[in-house]
Amino acid sequence: MPVTSAYLNRVFADVEKRNHGEKEFLQAVKEVFESLDLIIEKRPDLVKAGIIDRLVEPERSISFRVPWVDDQGILRVNRGYRIQFNSAIGPYKGGLRFHPSVNTSIIKFLGFEQIFKNSLTSLPIGGAKGGADFDPKGKSDGEVMRFCQSFMTELHRHIDADTDVPAGDIGVGVREIGFLFGQYKRITNRFAGILTGKGLSYGGSLVRTEATGYGLCYFTEEMLNQRGKSFKDTPVLISGSGNVAIFAAEKAIEMGARVIALSDSNGFIHAPGGINLDLVKEIKLVKRGRLAEYADVERSATYHEGRGIWKLQCGIALPCATQNELDEEDAAALIKNGCFAVAEGANMPSVPGAVERFLKAGILFGPAKAANAGGVATSALEMSQNSIRLSWTFIEVDQRLQEIMRNIFKNIHDASAAYGAPGNLVAGANIAGFLKVADAMLAYGVV
Ligand code: GLU
Repeated sequence: MPVTSAYLNRVFADVEKRNHGEKEFLQAVKEVFESLDLIIEKRPDLVKAGIIDRLVEPERSISFRVPWVDDQGILRVNRGYRIQFNSAIGPYKGGLRFHPSVNTSIIKFLGFEQIFKNSLTSLPIGGAKGGADFDPKGKSDGEVMRFCQSFMTELHRHIDADTDVPAGDIGVGVREIGFLFGQYKRITNRFAGILTGKGLSYGGSLVRTEATGYGLCYFTEEMLNQRGKSFKDTPVLISGSGNVAIFAAEKAIEMGARVIALSDSNGFIHAPGGINLDLVKEIKLVKRGRLAEYADVERSATYHEGRGIWKLQCGIALPCATQNELDEEDAAALIKNGCFAVAEGANMPSVPGAVERFLKAGILFGPAKAANAGGVATSALEMSQNSIRLSWTFIEVDQRLQEIMRNIFKNIHDASAAYGAPGNLVAGANIAGFLKVADAMLAYGVV
């Protein structure tokens, strides 16, 4: 969709010039601008104050050397990042991603998205992201530990419970958070809530592990209810097989769905009768293995190399793997095969052309910023518990999560109608997320 506002087009040209070639970051900014196009004429105060000129420039970008020694005694060097994008409504908050594809563009797109997502949670958290081009795959526990210790040795000077609170993302789970937290505590002599996604014995919150996947299903259920649909007896495709995918599958199954496929970066499993989630958990979470092993045990399922998961028939699709994993062709296949709802568990998994197709076809579409906000929302609940030095029960945190996801749906649904794009939850999420941050920035003057 072309952006019509001259102001937004001028800002976008500046962003392109200043962030030349940063494909993912430019994609994320463009998508938000397409939504802001609907409101910017009505808010000359925001234009005059240059709110969007400021919003697209991170408040602080840190990149640093991470040297470590592998099991063979060979010195390795990776690049670490922390991009503190916006702190208008709370301390910077967002995950750390350890993956070989990590670069400035990826961290910037994730940090930018996080501003809006965190705002939608209605909790006081700003937007940031970080990580490293380190590949945890095939590394020993000792190597991962030494990498995490080196990473935190630099990162510790940039974070604090009231400044910036990182968490996990792809490649960073409770093992890595444990190593990072242990090193922080050792070098600062402080036991503080400076990371979320911690283990339960040292300040973690119940439900945090499940939160992104569970939250995705709570959000999707709200969205489905609008059209008198539900997960019940519906075939569901879920890409990925990490934390988000596994717990989305768990909740979807609990809600009566038949989850028939999951994937990893090598291929996908197709289990028409429904997947055996215990086996997936054993392979992926315990053994850190590959999905291909699943079909060796479960003979009723088939394993397919490559990225053909979206060509299967389904009612609901939940992309939970990574950015730009669902292209236009995939979207066309899903629509043709009867899919009526898509909700994004990963960050920006659908390419812009795919989103356009879903919206045009009238398919229920829950964008990542809203649909996967349950993870970071529960992180904010972990921060609250750390501040009051108490822990809430599983039921208590889960109920808060359900309420947050229901509110997010309601707010973005209402915003889509209020700003002239009824039912377009992409526009609703971008606008509702933006306005809260913009109002805070406006209140601060030029900072
Ligand atoms: N990485 C997650 C996300 O994309 C969680 C961030 C957090 O808990 O701070 O929102």
